[in-house]
Amino acid sequence: MNSIGWYGALVALEFVLAAVTAVALLWIKAPYGRYQRGGWGPTIPGRIGWIVMESPSVVVFSAVFVSGAHRDDLVALVLLAMWLCHYVYRAFVYPALMRPGSRMPLLIVALALAFNVLNATINAWWVADLGGYADSWLTDPRFLAGAVLFFAGLVVHVRSDHTLRRLRSPGETGYRIPYGGGFRWVSSPNYTGEIVQWFGWALATWSPAGLAFAVYTTANLAPRAIDHHAWYRDRFPDYPADRRALVPHLL
Ligand code: NDP
Repeated sequence: MNSIGWYGALVALEFVLAAVTAVALLWIKAPYGRYQRGGWGPTIPGRIGWIVMESPSVVVFSAVFVSGAHRDDLVALVLLAMWLCHYVYRAFVYPALMRPGSRMPLLIVALALAFNVLNATINAWWVADLGGYADSWLTDPRFLAGAVLFFAGLVVHVRSDHTLRRLRSPGETGYRIPYGGGFRWVSSPNYTGEIVQWFGWALATWSPAGLAFAVYTTANLAPRAIDHHAWYRDRFPDYPADRRALVPHLL
């Protein structure tokens, strides 16, 4: 198989994983955070888990990127900077800011790590090699609209992560109702922001790998947002009635 064939096969695999994930999450709540429970094998500190499972998105993406034929092109470098903006935050800053004490199953870490190796590979491969963008791509409406969505989504989920973190005092482990920012409209604006961000990436890169990642993110986070919403409504009788799970006024 030639390199386009391999790329197509790996992108197809990511779409299949998205479908499998969406179906599995209809029955199973991913066992970390508020749904952590026994029976999922050994656990490790949450902070270490996040670094281990997300850092391939920095390391593997960078390694594949530097071996790409278009690694010195302006557009490739701009897209690299966008990717790293997100993943340096997610792999290193977010775990550093997390409240200590949480744990997560090693199994979740291993599955997420494997997914991130695949996802970083196909996205870097496109951006630095197969995409072959001319500099004029930076003024194309698809790139501009995608970049706006990407950064808007990034701001929303980083702000929402910050709001959630501030709900607990040091040493506290319970849950409160979050207010303000995107929480005025939905229970999981961190997920809404993340999904918008990766559809922005799909548009800005105009790539099969970008679309596969946006679809996967939705398959992974939409069921969890719906579960979070039901969980809040069960536990907090005063939970704001007009708040939705993921999409303001709709879902
Ligand atoms: P959650 O919203 O479940 O939790 C985020 C953090 O906030 C956790 O530390 C959690 O504590 C804490 N928290 C949440 N709600 C409350 C509350 N009501 N009161 C007090 N503390 C609260 O997000 P995830 O852990 O699932 O995800 C974290 C980030 O990673 C998100 O921004 C998400 O978008 C991103 N992500 C992206 C994925 C993708 O496919 N691209 C996949 C998974 C996550 P605790 O852990 O104790 O519940």
